[in-house]
Amino acid sequence: MSGTPGRRDVLVSPDPPQVASIELIRVRVPLRSTHRSSHLTESARQSVLVRITDVNGVTGTGECPALGAAGYVVETIDVAWSALSSDLAPSWLAGRHGMSIGAPCATAAMADASLDLWLRSQHRSLADWLGVDPARPVRWCAVLADVRLDPQTTLDRAREAVDSGASMVKLKFDDPATLRRQVAAVRSELAVPLAADANGTLDPRSARELDDLALTYLEQPLPVAAGVESYRQLREDTDTPVALDESLTSLDALAWALRNDALDLASVKPARMGGLVQAANAIALCSKDGVGAFVGGMFELGVGRAGGLVLASLPGCSEPTDLGPSQRYFDRDVVEPLRTDDGGAITLPSGPGLGRVLDEEAVDLYTVDRLELR
Ligand SMILES: [Mg+2]
Repeated sequence: MSGTPGRRDVLVSPDPPQVASIELIRVRVPLRSTHRSSHLTESARQSVLVRITDVNGVTGTGECPALGAAGYVVETIDVAWSALSSDLAPSWLAGRHGMSIGAPCATAAMADASLDLWLRSQHRSLADWLGVDPARPVRWCAVLADVRLDPQTTLDRAREAVDSGASMVKLKFDDPATLRRQVAAVRSELAVPLAADANGTLDPRSARELDDLALTYLEQPLPVAAGVESYRQLREDTDTPVALDESLTSLDALAWALRNDALDLASVKPARMGGLVQAANAIALCSKDGVGAFVGGMFELGVGRAGGLVLASLPGCSEPTDLGPSQRYFDRDVVEPLRTDDGGAITLPSGPGLGRVLDEEAVDLYTVDRLELR
C-alpha cells in the first residue's frame, strides 16, 4: 500500500519497485578529524550506497552506514557489503523483498532506496509525504565523540559547536570522573544544554551517581544485556531522563521498552530500525506513549543524513537530532552539503525523494568497490 499517511496511522512502505538493476557502491570518505569513541577509532567513514533502478528507468538511492568495526553492533561494513551483494540485492532482483538477519543497516538501505525511488516516481519529497513543514529549520545536537578529551579541549569544541549553531552538546564518555570534569568545564563558560552518552558502559550505581549533574538526558547508561527491569529501576531512582539507544534494535524492542517503562526518550536510528518508514513509526509509537524521541546518528553521509533530518522534523521529536551539518564531518560529501540558516539550524532537503542527488565526481573519487546486478 502506498499513498499519503494520515498523521495517526501506521506508516506503510510503498510497494517495492519492479527492479531492473541494483548498483552497490562502497565508498570511503575521509573524516575532517579522527573519530574516537568507546567502540572504535576511524579516520574515514565507509558506507555503502545502494542504487535501485526500476523498469521505467527511475533510480532511488539508500545508504547503509554500518560501522567499520564490531562492538556497537555486529553488523560491520564488511558484513553489510556481504549481505547486500550476496543476499539482498539478488533477492530483490528476483522479486523477493525479505530482510537479512544480522544486517539491519543493509536491509534498511534497500528499503530506503526503494522509498526514494517511489517518491521520485511520484515527484514528491519525503518531507511532503510525511507531512512535515519543509520550512521549519532542524535543531541539532553536537556529539563530542572523543571519550577522554581533557576539560579545556572539551570546552573549546563545545564552544565551536555552539558558535556553528548547535542547540545542545552531547558528551560521549566511559569514565564518570572524566565526564564530571568535562561538564564542569563546559558549564563554566557556556549555558548550552548538556546530554551524555555512556554507550552502555556504566553499572546502575555509577549511573545513579550522575544524577546531580542535571543532564538534559543520560543516554544508554547500562549495557543492552541489563534489560528493561534495570532501566525501570534506574528511572525510579533518579530524576535525569534516561534515553535508550543500543537497546532499541527494532520496533518490537522499542515497544517492549515502552511497555516496561524503561525510557524517557528514544534515540531512533533509521538504519538500525529498518529504514525511514519504520523509524517514523518508532517516533509515532513514542509520541503515543508520551515518551520523547530524537533522531540518532551513525555518521551518515549526505544520503542517510538527508532522510534522517526530515524525520527529525516530525512533531514527536522532542530533542535535537544528533545529525549535524555534514561539513562538520566531511570536507566533501557524496551529495551537495545540507545548508544551514543564519542561526546555524539545518534547512530541510526539499527535492524529490530524500532530496539529494549524488555528486558523481565525489562518488567516483571515494569508491573502493562497486558491483552492478541486472
Ligand atoms: Mg548513543
